[in-house]
Amino acid sequence: QWIYLNGEYVTKEEATVSVYDHGFLYGDGIFEGIRIYNGNIFKCKEHLDRLYDSAKSIMLNIPLTYSEMEQALVETIRRNGLKDGYIRLVVSRGPGDLGLDPRRSPKASVIIIVEQLSIYPEEAYIHGLKTVSVSTRRNVPDALNPKIKSLNYLNNILVKIQANLAGVGEAIMLNSQGYVAEGSSDNIFIVKRGTVFTPPCYCGALEGITRAAIIEICQKIGYTVKEEPFTLHDVYVADEVFFTGTAAEVIAVREVDARIIGEGKAGPITTRLLQEFRNIVEVDGVK
Ligand code: PMP
Repeated sequence: QWIYLNGEYVTKEEATVSVYDHGFLYGDGIFEGIRIYNGNIFKCKEHLDRLYDSAKSIMLNIPLTYSEMEQALVETIRRNGLKDGYIRLVVSRGPGDLGLDPRRSPKASVIIIVEQLSIYPEEAYIHGLKTVSVSTRRNVPDALNPKIKSLNYLNNILVKIQANLAGVGEAIMLNSQGYVAEGSSDNIFIVKRGTVFTPPCYCGALEGITRAAIIEICQKIGYTVKEEPFTLHDVYVADEVFFTGTAAEVIAVREVDARIIGEGKAGPITTRLLQEFRNIVEVDGVK
């Protein structure tokens, strides 16, 4: 396995960063999780747009141009010989001193890891996941805007811990006003009487690339899709609930806080959206 580390390709053992790296000391940095399907980087432009926007917002200077970054992704995949897999692209503030000041970290660290992906078994997509809501709240737009895909993932880790304690794979996070925001690392959708709903990003959802792809698919195949705030009540009484994310794709939910959703398995709209999604991933991407 070859890892891109600041312009060089090194082995997993050699791929280390300084203990003074502010990504490590302060979670000061940003990242992307990207899929490779059939040798294509899926939604490469969307992921790089989000990365460069996150960087601009936190005044982090990425030492590679957009096309150099794309080249680095392509080359890392080529060296690893993977046709299908997952890319983790991390840009941290880089090594500095023990103080917070980013001016003391003049050189950002850039890391690209490509790996095989193991997520939910195929049967989970048919039977759906069991999930719970948790008490951890999503930060709503402020300095740490959820639109910035930063290395500050403590909120999400706390959600994951609560999910683990409940024995479920993903959990639902609300924002401080009690509206549904998203999962620990997935966006959430519900379906009611044929209409598809997802929380607007101002409710505390990341602008997920899979979320955007699903909204686009809905519009293309004629499902009404609305970005509207909703509560846990709306989730409990929904006909279908599903999560979307780069790793999870489109995964049905069969139970939320011990309420059975619909028929207690992947519903027809969720199933269709997963099918349509899997049809586009094979062809839509950067070679
Ligand atoms: N929300 C959070 C908090 C995430 O970390 C992710 C995964 N990147 C998502 C949603 C899903 O976004 P995407 O479809 O871009 O992977």
